[in-house]
Amino acid sequence: MGRMEKNVKNGIMFQGFEWYLPSGGYFADMENKIPDLVAAGINSVWLPPQCKATGVFDVGYGIYDLYDLGEFDQKGEQRTKYGTKEEYLQLIRALHEAGIRVYADVVLNHKAGADESEHFDAVQVNPANRTEEIGDVHEIEAWTHFHFPGRRGKYSDFQWHWYHFTGVDFDQKSGESGVYRVVGDGKGWAYGVSGEKGNFDYLMFADIDHHHPEVREELFRWADWMIEETGVDGFRVDAAKHIDRTFMRDFINYVDEKHEDFYWFGEYWQAYSDKTGKYMEITEYDMDLFDVTLHYNLVAAARGGKSYDIRKIFDGTLVKEHPAMAVTFVNNHDSQPGQSLENFVDRWFIPHAYALILLRKDGYPCVFYGDYYGISGENPIEGNKELLDKLMKLRNSFAYGDQEDHMISENILGWTRHGTKEHPGKMVTLLNTGDAATMELFIGKEQAGKTYADYLGIQEESVQINEEGKGSFTVGPGSIACWAETGNPID
Ligand code: CA
Repeated sequence: MGRMEKNVKNGIMFQGFEWYLPSGGYFADMENKIPDLVAAGINSVWLPPQCKATGVFDVGYGIYDLYDLGEFDQKGEQRTKYGTKEEYLQLIRALHEAGIRVYADVVLNHKAGADESEHFDAVQVNPANRTEEIGDVHEIEAWTHFHFPGRRGKYSDFQWHWYHFTGVDFDQKSGESGVYRVVGDGKGWAYGVSGEKGNFDYLMFADIDHHHPEVREELFRWADWMIEETGVDGFRVDAAKHIDRTFMRDFINYVDEKHEDFYWFGEYWQAYSDKTGKYMEITEYDMDLFDVTLHYNLVAAARGGKSYDIRKIFDGTLVKEHPAMAVTFVNNHDSQPGQSLENFVDRWFIPHAYALILLRKDGYPCVFYGDYYGISGENPIEGNKELLDKLMKLRNSFAYGDQEDHMISENILGWTRHGTKEHPGKMVTLLNTGDAATMELFIGKEQAGKTYADYLGIQEESVQINEEGKGSFTVGPGSIACWAETGNPID
């Protein structure tokens, strides 16, 4: 985590997009939403990928030109799905004026929509095991030459050719799709990538060879340009497990030397394991990672309902193993229905899931646009703005100090935050996946005689703390409760 992020007490990140946002009009819409974000106590926003992709309906991961932020007439229009470069820069300025840091989503693993095809040697590999060759080395024709005719060399005159890539997925000559490894001097799959599928360097489109000196130089130059041009405060690295980790380490070190307090977080999409640990070690603990395991556990808990043992929700998670390096989240643009990693936390469990990431001690929580404002498109899903606003305010008011867990039962997990000198209020959070329940909990002798209320307003009766410092707290069926002393303004 960047130094700045570590210093922000109870910071909250906001993922500022979902997959099915309409094409066009995004930046003005987000600017209108800034007051919501400020009121909620959000201190950083992760914006969608703005580099020119294959067209105005591309969410941004089919990236074409790193230097075209919606400035050049390329791929059909000047703007990206979200808008023009001018609008992008305007939104970043407005967020900065509101005291919110901005993270750019950067796609460095691959490139799509080349300008010309080229002929070169390649070998087809087994898609399930990329170390296994199927067939002989032969000449193919593939889309690997990028010269950006609409940009005409502005900012960088670098042209991409077949030898800057490790693999492609289509041979124009034979008309066949597959996974083709580029063959040539010093060519081959990257070493420091996920070992899934034998070697998971190749994900999609034309896979960038981060080992090639010209590529390294060009990407370093681009990072300088991107940060200078936009003023963003951090990068969210897309598809990190498909990019050579030694390149990532060098790339981070290069940027960090020039830019103080630059924040890095990456999408390393697999359950936490020794491999994730190794990745963090090699990237010198400079890059935080999304807590994918916690996301899977939240999905399992939401699906399992009463039959899931809620006390196990943090088992195997990144936030448990490396609390200072976990970006915790509930849902994202890839997990939402209809998307590649579809694994959505259902609505009934949204209060539980967000309480788990927002009201506990560890992790840098990321609130998803789709959970907050809702998801548009053919199968719209309503947002939970009112509830999430309350939970974020509770985070800012009461989520301080020591954390005492209450492992009540298979269906009830609770914890007390004991507050600090600066934020003395205590709070008891209870999550319930079963029937309504009431339990006596010790809060503290100094709390005797105080009245506690459920700040979510679900439990209407207040609770009197007795002489022993205990209170009798209720949580509704399949619901949550956040008990704190009455009379506290929550903001
Ligand atoms: Ca790759």
